[in-house]
Amino acid sequence: MSVIIIGAGLGGLTLAQGLGRAGIPCQVYERDPSPEFRKQGYRLHIGGAGDTALREVLRPELHELFRATAGRALPHTNVYDERLRLLTRLEDEGTHLNINRFTLRQILLHGQEVSYGKRFTHHAIDEDGVTAHFADGLPHAAACWWEPTASTPRCGGSTCRTPRSSTPGSCTSTAGSRSPRTPGRCSSRRCSRCSR
Ligand SMILES: Cc1cc2nc3c(=O)[nH]c(=O)nc-3n(C[C@H](O)[C@H](O)[C@H](O)COP(=O)(O)OP(=O)(O)OC[C@H]3O[C@@H](n4cnc5c(N)ncnc54)[C@H](O)[C@@H]3O)c2cc1C
Repeated sequence: MSVIIIGAGLGGLTLAQGLGRAGIPCQVYERDPSPEFRKQGYRLHIGGAGDTALREVLRPELHELFRATAGRALPHTNVYDERLRLLTRLEDEGTHLNINRFTLRQILLHGQEVSYGKRFTHHAIDEDGVTAHFADGLPHAAACWWEPTASTPRCGGSTCRTPRSSTPGSCTSTAGSRSPRTPGRCSSRRCSRCSR
């Protein structure tokens, strides 16, 4: 099985980290030309649930890096009036972390291969899997998957963008110029590039 993720935002990258940790290959596509292209806000507050979720999906060293680079908020919030007179102090229980959005994004990008400049337009599903289509006209078929009975990933799909392999019956998934190379076995009769 392989997964196509559209959008290298916090959600898409977190998903990619979780899939990677679970050993499921994925490819992330992002319409921006680079991670630095757009300012994406300043700081992000992460509460206990967010911290727990990140601990579960990130490799331990990346979660440690996240914790080390996050600021710890005071355990309370002061409420002032218009003359800055303290009205009340709200006690904030639990975890409160503040992290720079770009720092978090860099952590989430670690080990990920993202195809930038790829604007997703639509997808199509057939019996071989799903094909994502992009504005640049180069589609990606999520055509590699593991079957319960197969020990190697299988690769197929009517839009299989794989170069012809020198080994009959096998191909290397290379959708997009920066996609990971995933050895697979082609199961599609319509895969014109794989010399099955
Ligand atoms: C002002 C503000 C403050 C916030 N503060 C907090 C906070 O303190 N704590 C907190 O937990 N959350 C906060 N949030 C929410 C948090 O920012 C979002 O939940 C989070 O960014 C969502 O992540 P996402 O990956 O789903 O979307 P995004 O971060 O929006 O990422 C989506 C990505 O998909 C890409 N994309 C979109 N369409 C396409 C396409 N067609 N093809 C290819 N790529 C595409 C975009 O370019 C983008 O990079 C805040 C949000 C706002 C607006």
